[in-house]
Amino acid sequence: TPDAPLLELRGMRVFYGAIEALKGIDLTVGKGEIVALLGSNGAGKTTTLRTVSGMLQPRHGEVLLRGERIDGIKSHELVRFGIGHVPEGRRVFATMTVLENLEMGAYKFSSVDSGDLDRAFTLFPRLAERRSQQAGTLSGGEQQMLAIGRALMGRPELLLLDEPSMGLAPLIVQQIFEIIKEINDQGTTVLLVEQNATQALGLADRGYVLETGSVAMSGPAGDLLADSRIRAAYLGEG
Ligand code: ATP
Repeated sequence: TPDAPLLELRGMRVFYGAIEALKGIDLTVGKGEIVALLGSNGAGKTTTLRTVSGMLQPRHGEVLLRGERIDGIKSHELVRFGIGHVPEGRRVFATMTVLENLEMGAYKFSSVDSGDLDRAFTLFPRLAERRSQQAGTLSGGEQQMLAIGRALMGRPELLLLDEPSMGLAPLIVQQIFEIIKEINDQGTTVLLVEQNATQALGLADRGYVLETGSVAMSGPAGDLLADSRIRAAYLGEG
C-alpha cells in the first residue's frame, strides 16, 4: 500500500503469561522519520520493539509494515522485510572480531557487500581501526557502535534502537546520537527507545510516551519537549 505508514501498530496487546505488558498500543512511524519511544522503567518500551521485530507475538491487535500485516512472522524472517533491531544491552558476539560481527549482520545476503562494510567503517571510524580486535574487548560505546553497524549491514529500512545511550559517558552518547541522525539522513527510518528523553526528543521528529503499557502522550518532538507534564516526569524538572 503506497500511502500506508512504514510501520503501524493498531490496538497491540502483548502478554507475558498472565501479565499484560502492552494494553492496546496505537503508533505510527512514517518513512524517513525518527520517532522516540519514551517512558519510565517497565512502561513497555522494550516489549514494543520486541513485538515489532517478531520476538514476541501480540495476543490482540495488528502490526503493519507498509500496510501489510507482519505480526505472526518470526524475527529471522522479518530481517528480510527490512527491519533491523539493536537490542538492549547491545549483545555483540564477544569472541568474534569486529569485522566478523559486521559480516554476521549481512547473513541474509549470499555474500558480504564491500560497499556495506565501507559504509559501516565510514560511519564508525573507530570500528575500522579495530576491525581485527575481539568485540568483547571493546569499550561500551564501541560495542554499541558495533551493534548498530551490524544491524546496518542488513540494509534495514526501519531500524529499531533499544536504549543506545545506556551506561555510556555523555560525550559518547552525543556521538552515538549524531550518528543516528546521520543514518536517518541517509534514508533509514528510526524507532528509538530512550530513557534519555531530552536528547531523544532533540533528535526525533515525533515522540510517544508510554505509561504502564499504554500511550499516555504523543506528538511532535518539540511539543513534547515543551510540555510541562513531560518536563516534570522525564526531564527532571518539578
Ligand atoms: P526498561 O526501560 O526497564 O527496559 P521498558 O519500558 O522497556 O522498561 P519492558 O521491559 O517492555 O519495559 O517491560 C514492560 C512490562 O513487562 C514490565 O512490567 C515488566 O516487568 C514486564 N516484563 C518484561 N519482560 C518480562 C518477562 N520476560 N516476563 C514477565 N514480565 C516481563
